[in-house]
Amino acid sequence: MKGFDNPLDLPVATMAARVRDADDPLTASELVETSLLRIEALDPAIHAFLCTTPDLARAQAEAVDTAVAEGRDPGPLAGVPLAVKDNIAVPGVPLTCASKILGGYVPPTWATSVKRAVDAGACIVGKTNLDEFAMGSSTENSAFGATRNPFDTSRVPGGSSGGSAAAVAAGMAPLALGSDTGGSIRQPAALCGIVGLKPTYGRVSRNGLVAFASSLDQVGPMARSAADARALLEAIEGTDAADATTRRMSEVARGPQTGLDGLRVGWAREFDVRDVPGGAPTQDVVDGVRTLLEDGGATSVDLSLPLVEASIPVYYIVAPAEASSNLARYDGVRYGQRTADAETLQQLYARTRDEGFGEEVKRRILIGTFALSSGYADAYYKRAMAARGALRVAFQEAFETCDVILSATTPTPAFAIGEKAGDPLAMYLCDVLTVAANLAGIPAVSIPCGRSAEGLPVGLQLWGPAGSEGRLLDIAEDLADATGHRYLAPSLETGRTA
Ligand code: GLN
Repeated sequence: MKGFDNPLDLPVATMAARVRDADDPLTASELVETSLLRIEALDPAIHAFLCTTPDLARAQAEAVDTAVAEGRDPGPLAGVPLAVKDNIAVPGVPLTCASKILGGYVPPTWATSVKRAVDAGACIVGKTNLDEFAMGSSTENSAFGATRNPFDTSRVPGGSSGGSAAAVAAGMAPLALGSDTGGSIRQPAALCGIVGLKPTYGRVSRNGLVAFASSLDQVGPMARSAADARALLEAIEGTDAADATTRRMSEVARGPQTGLDGLRVGWAREFDVRDVPGGAPTQDVVDGVRTLLEDGGATSVDLSLPLVEASIPVYYIVAPAEASSNLARYDGVRYGQRTADAETLQQLYARTRDEGFGEEVKRRILIGTFALSSGYADAYYKRAMAARGALRVAFQEAFETCDVILSATTPTPAFAIGEKAGDPLAMYLCDVLTVAANLAGIPAVSIPCGRSAEGLPVGLQLWGPAGSEGRLLDIAEDLADATGHRYLAPSLETGRTA
């Protein structure tokens, strides 16, 4: 096909349709081999993968190709290589969460999301790097070394799903799964020039996702286009008996092509980053989209969401509180690593945790334990939960006046490796534009919408009411047409033949 000399660069729907067509020479095996070759060629400079799974990928590809040969339908993702964040379980493949404490742990069962993607024909090529237990915004908190941004390898890819974002951006896999507790799909997607969607809480099963903050965590798709992200979301979503918080929601299939004319677009003053240090160029890009939308017949609705300003403090109480409870299970008794040096049970717990957890994870556990401790829980946790409830209502009211809210995804493009590593507060502020969606439980998607003066990707974020992923992706596709900004291939030598 013209423009796509390498089949791995095809849109996912086309790639899978060709694999399913018995008369087309393209096979799942060829896609998997191409993906593995690209990883081999590119990943030494990027470090997106913690491990590759060639045997698994080849077996899955063979199953797809056999199905095609026998006239059975292997599914809508037939043969599409998929990278999986290493806090999501694949049976028989080590699960590390980029932490030493899980050393040697191999999960026995599938995460529901991964299993559904595989049942739809996807082939798993490897597990991707992340900030330890998904705590961070740069993938520097990995116990196995940082991932690098394919646009500039001296910079971070964002986090915590930085490995998944870099794998897709560099063309190593067309699709990846990430997880998003406060921005971990959208922020790295923005910094790596790809599409990343955090679904409505309860759309995708969390079964098999290692819990960070259970009331905020969601698994979601990362891809080169809104259409590709939709294809993965359609495969993984849906109710699951193994996760009681999943709910049936409206379809995510492409809706009627209504275009941007008549769209009511909300602009919340609190999301304007012009006055944030370094934020002005990002806001210029976002304002350019506003003008373009207005010229195209959309109506702008100016909003105020004052509680958004409390979302960082609220998130950094609620998420560590839940994390301190969820991470209590890593004590050397059941999972992963155990200290070699303990005489009492208490020493076993304390030394295992001291040796196994990194600095940021320890910090979160301490913050969370403090916020929940008797005498402080009312002042911190309960107040934070009250603010969270009010934030949810504020978004519901805002969506009575507009169809979608637009903002930047991050205040600035990718920063240098090491730049914020010694400053936790500066790192936490990377999430100032993303955490509110998790607190409110609503969907949000980041799409590429331009480049900074240095040529780094800038992300635009679309927020919608609960259950509106289908509509958000429709708008994302129409916006990509209107702005002309699609997948921005990095200038790095990617091994592409095109
Ligand atoms: N960066 C945020 C944090 O450190 C969000 C992480 C996430 O979404 N998993 O908590």
